[in-house]
Amino acid sequence: MIDVTVLGATGMVGQRFVERLSTHPFFRIAHLTASDRSAGKHYAEATPWRLHSTPYGGCGDMKLKPSDPRDAFSPIVFSALDTAPAREIEPAFAQAGAVLFSNASAFRMAENVPLLIAEVNPDHLRLLEIQRKKSGNGGGIVCNANCTATVLAMALAPLHERFGVEAVVMTSMQAVSGAGFPGVASLDIVGNVLPYISSEEEKVQAEIPKMLGALNSVSIQPAIMAVSALCHRVPVIDGHTEAVSVKLRGNPTAEQVTRAMSEWTPEPQRLRLHSAPERPIRVHFEENRPQPRLDVEQDGGMSVHVGRIRPCPIMGIKFTLLGHNTHRGAAGGSVLNAELAHAKGMI
Ligand code: NAP
Repeated sequence: MIDVTVLGATGMVGQRFVERLSTHPFFRIAHLTASDRSAGKHYAEATPWRLHSTPYGGCGDMKLKPSDPRDAFSPIVFSALDTAPAREIEPAFAQAGAVLFSNASAFRMAENVPLLIAEVNPDHLRLLEIQRKKSGNGGGIVCNANCTATVLAMALAPLHERFGVEAVVMTSMQAVSGAGFPGVASLDIVGNVLPYISSEEEKVQAEIPKMLGALNSVSIQPAIMAVSALCHRVPVIDGHTEAVSVKLRGNPTAEQVTRAMSEWTPEPQRLRLHSAPERPIRVHFEENRPQPRLDVEQDGGMSVHVGRIRPCPIMGIKFTLLGHNTHRGAAGGSVLNAELAHAKGMI
């Protein structure tokens, strides 16, 4: 078993980490941390547990440590910290020799940090070697993308591989769990739609070209494509839905796009990694699917659902997309990234 630390274990993403890692076949939770407000308390006392699974992942009696490598070092660290504290805390763990898998946005666009989705750009993990050479201590940072960008990149990756993506317009309908806990006030969101999520559109527009970009010897050459994101918060608990229009090279038909998505079998599925869903993209053919309530929990929230693939008179192809923001878009994605690094002998 390999010891792991979860930073920010009390939050929405932290709880998903604890849920996943408490039953993991080769990662063992050694330390849980949170802010100074929570450190020293038992996990159950400090955490507003909001998941249906075993309460506190069976770790309710563990004492929360400060988010400091002197108190909570493990060779693998999963970070569910807010971005502001992540700026200082994450490099401290990497400098202490940990490989840190982050969900915060602090280092996503840094030149030598991979913005990794195990299925989409597994070769980008080689940037970790460059960081390690520089630090000389085996530590480094691997980031997850923004959750909205992650599930979009999953659907675009097989299309970019087979045809080439030239332009994308994506309109999101994002769940409230994406705003953390307690998140958006109920009086703002119940029976309502909020047409603004701070920095979300900019993140999607910057992160998609990096994820679909090409690795050169020291950094990523971003893919050349136009991305326009329009982001909205809706009264759904888990699962981001996205209406996507895409311009592809060669103007493939809806049938060709369906085939490219259905046949996609990337590296984590070939390696049969523990957290990899059997099918990374589930294509739906019913006219009213996918829906968050009916589909988002399938495959432990790790597959991306695509439906209503059809011609778009402006861009060529349009479809509806759904993905789980705290599983695939956060904790599950990070754990899968760590499994990939382990399978490649990098941990
Ligand atoms: P959250 O529910 O607000 O949790 C934040 C966590 O950070 C809590 O454990 C909190 O501990 C800890 N924290 C806050 N200030 C700290 C400090 N100064 N030092 C140490 N720990 C501190 O947020 P979340 O939704 O889980 O999101 C966590 C991260 O993942 C964010 O960077 C977010 O952008 C990213 N993300 C979230 C989602 C999503 O769907 N929610 C998806 C992808 C990425 P206390 O309980 O002690 O305050």
